[in-house]
Amino acid sequence: MATQNSDIPSTSVVEIATNGDVILVVGPEEKRLQVCSSVLKNASKYFKNMFGPHFSEGQDLTTSSPKEIPMPEDDANVLEIICNIIHLRNDDVPEAVSPTKALGLAVAADKFECVVAVKHASTLWLKPREVQDITELGRLVAAAYILDSTRAFSDITLCMVLHHKDSYLSLAGEDLGLDESVVWHVIYLLEERRSQMHVALQHMLLDGSTDAGSDYEPQCTCGWSGQHCLAYIGLLRTNNLWPSNMADITISQVMEKINVMGDPTLGNGWAQCGYRWHRTTEYGRMRKYRLDSMQRSNGVCIDCVRSRATATKRNCRIKHNSK
Ligand SMILES: [Zn+2]
Ligand SMILES: [Zn+2]
Repeated sequence: MATQNSDIPSTSVVEIATNGDVILVVGPEEKRLQVCSSVLKNASKYFKNMFGPHFSEGQDLTTSSPKEIPMPEDDANVLEIICNIIHLRNDDVPEAVSPTKALGLAVAADKFECVVAVKHASTLWLKPREVQDITELGRLVAAAYILDSTRAFSDITLCMVLHHKDSYLSLAGEDLGLDESVVWHVIYLLEERRSQMHVALQHMLLDGSTDAGSDYEPQCTCGWSGQHCLAYIGLLRTNNLWPSNMADITISQVMEKINVMGDPTLGNGWAQCGYRWHRTTEYGRMRKYRLDSMQRSNGVCIDCVRSRATATKRNCRIKHNSK
């Protein structure tokens, strides 16, 4: 029988484990979840203790008369999802949840000491996808931190760096289920990462000034590189890609402007000489290469947050971006 996450009468039982020997009675609505104590014990230290020899909950468990365990403080919907994961009922595990629900699941997995058991399922919930709101992203990143998901933590923080232009300070006032010092460390490293990417963008734009090639030989009589460099600088001004323009838009918006920027065109009065190396320019190819490299870069490193370090490259599980 398929389980349901919708509201159900408190007297009915959601059979997560048919013939389970325990019924968890969860939340103020007293939702009843029938589960198997041995499965819960395997996945969760919390339940291993609860159903162990030292507590009454673990005594005289039988499938013929499942014991009810009251859990009034917990979120029934969250615990139902966790029990479905632990019991391998993947058809009943949602592929996407809201950032608030993702954080609730992470906090509960931490409380019930079953972070490892929910790790694979959680990769689906921790994708930033279309989430753009900084508070929602903050909840997702907190969930990734609690679940120790290195990749998700990097991907979500990269999203925060690319798509947010205002201060990250608003995160300090949110209840993210994390120690305050962790939140401040994340805020600091987000600012540091965004600052690094701003510098990288300016470097990228400067590099473009020589993509027509340089004058190494005296054979050129048309001033090829100088003329192209001047035209390129003019192109940056026309496209509002001057350093002072960048403070007002997000990094992803700057990258998009660079992506669609055309090649510089030289004035009508200029005529190219016959020097053989001055025939083609590399603007488009080099621009694509640099943007692709930047898009593949990482966000904030979870191990640096945990160790209270700043990009020290010590035993970190993700590759640090070169400066
Ligand atoms: Zn020339
Ligand atoms: Zn690191």
